[in-house]
Amino acid sequence: MVDSQVLVIGAGFSGLAAAHRLDAAGVDVRVLEARDRVGGRTFTRYLDGGLQIDLGGQWFGPGQTRMYELAAQYGVKTFPLREVGERFAFLGGQRNAGPDAEVSAIYAELDRLARTVDLERPSLTPDAAELDSQTLHTWLADRTDAERAAYASRQLAGGLLATDASQVSMLQILFYLHSGGGVDSMLKTVGGAQQDRVIGGPFAIAQHMAEALAEPVVLGFDVASLTRDTRGQVAAPWTAHARDGREFTADRVIVTVPPVVLNRIEISPAMPGTKRRAVRNVLPGDAMKFHAVYATPLWNDQGRSGAFTSSTGLITEAVDNSVPGTAQGVLTFFVYGHDATRIRGLDAGARQELLLAEIADRLDDEHLRQPVDFIEFDWDAEPHTGGCFSGSFAVGTMHVYRDALLAPWEGLRFAGTETADIWNGYFEGAVRAGEREAAALVDELAGAL
Ligand SMILES: Cc1cc2nc3c(=O)[nH]c(=O)nc-3n(C[C@H](O)[C@H](O)[C@H](O)COP(=O)(O)OP(=O)(O)OC[C@H]3O[C@@H](n4cnc5c(N)ncnc54)[C@H](O)[C@@H]3O)c2cc1C
Repeated sequence: MVDSQVLVIGAGFSGLAAAHRLDAAGVDVRVLEARDRVGGRTFTRYLDGGLQIDLGGQWFGPGQTRMYELAAQYGVKTFPLREVGERFAFLGGQRNAGPDAEVSAIYAELDRLARTVDLERPSLTPDAAELDSQTLHTWLADRTDAERAAYASRQLAGGLLATDASQVSMLQILFYLHSGGGVDSMLKTVGGAQQDRVIGGPFAIAQHMAEALAEPVVLGFDVASLTRDTRGQVAAPWTAHARDGREFTADRVIVTVPPVVLNRIEISPAMPGTKRRAVRNVLPGDAMKFHAVYATPLWNDQGRSGAFTSSTGLITEAVDNSVPGTAQGVLTFFVYGHDATRIRGLDAGARQELLLAEIADRLDDEHLRQPVDFIEFDWDAEPHTGGCFSGSFAVGTMHVYRDALLAPWEGLRFAGTETADIWNGYFEGAVRAGEREAAALVDELAGAL
């Protein structure tokens, strides 16, 4: 006798969406979550006075239809990212309004190539192996000067995958661009993936989703291993063993944890070698997201929006993340890849000083060195996340292992944003991947009757 028909491991957007699809089909499902909260890579903190700070994922935009539907379903309101005044693109020391014509032409060429990628099976893309062996870094270096290559690298490898262009294959970045609708769709604020925020953060949607499940999410259930007795029975149930000794059994399991975390869950009997290697070859990104809070959005005093992108320095991009109806100004900025790894090694005070000096320089205002609050949260140090924003394939491995990453095996199915073909790496991809696996499982269970 099993505890439930299906177990879902992880109560991020993927796990919650999977569980809802199973609930709707009348399947008995339990969600097991290691943390003492749901939401995974989205989490919102409130400062004294109630100012909302989204520590993890925070935006969605046009094309991310499931996220808007979920917000509407639970009565959660969205609001546009604040952008009042000029934004800057720092390209080789020059301050411009945006990327120049040469960078725009490179983006257009990448969009054209991205449309050739087979999203369901990237290995079937023309010249897949060749594209997978070349990095975004070498591709850009062949096409433009060092400054523009650095700018495009930081926007695409950094801003999208939180890594360095030398660590991303062309197949991987083209897949990602196609998956998210192209460069503009992914980089833009208005009309793009950074268009809207959520009152209470996307975390609020996850909380509503959890509360609406037929069975409450089992919190604090940190799955250490998944085991199945292979003696005798044809389809023995799976047992999820928590680190605190608790157990849950089920006939089927949908795993939604990030690949880097899945590596740490012992699965017995062992999954096939190709599957294990597929999981190991998805490397987590490294982004550090910082919030500097000021009494007001000071940058507006000089007609500036506070938003900038840059080809040099530690900070690749900054935005005005202030919340409507509050007086404070919040500047949120990001450091990616090797730069993020490097500054993590500094003590917090030195890191803050270095970053604020760069902000003051970029926005030409020494007052910005003195925020009233400074918030950082390191997703890399979170054992149940292990990096951010999401994972991407090591150079040369996507065309070999992508199919195996998704392949179900012996009653286990695999979701999570890293498995998505549409909006891979985003909330939207997480939801769609969870719903995909749940729908396939419902069909499978119906066929088994
Ligand atoms: C700083 C940051 C900024 C981002 N910005 C955006 C953005 O603006 N827009 C956007 O769309 N996306 C953004 N993302 C990405 C987005 O957050 C993710 O794509 C999405 O949340 C992934 O959902 P998921 O369900 O696939 O995985 P997760 O959210 O990681 O969920 C997996 C769940 O599994 C749990 N878990 C892990 N190990 C175990 C275990 N052993 N046992 C039980 N449970 C376990 C985890 O605690 C977690 O709750 C951002 C991410 C970060 C970190």
